[in-house]
Amino acid sequence: MDETRQRLDVYAAQRQFNQAPEFIRGEAAPRAFQALRSVLDLHLLQEKRSEYGAVQVCLFCSSQSYREILWPCRTVEAINEVLPHA
Ligand SMILES: [Zn+2]
Repeated sequence: MDETRQRLDVYAAQRQFNQAPEFIRGEAAPRAFQALRSVLDLHLLQEKRSEYGAVQVCLFCSSQSYREILWPCRTVEAINEVLPHA
């Protein structure tokens, strides 16, 4: 499990959500967190060897491009940017 997924799971498990209205706590937040997990399940880190040594790339973004997209890709960075740092 990569760092972004761990930070998302820690954030989603925070007790402060116990005080949120029922619709957010029981419905909206779990769906939103699951959507983010599904996105992260697509954008997986992959180690690749190149002529310059080992590089980390995004498996999904690289599959959609004519070149390797380095890790973390823009999608993972965008999720990372809004998660609180421990
Ligand atoms: Zn990606």
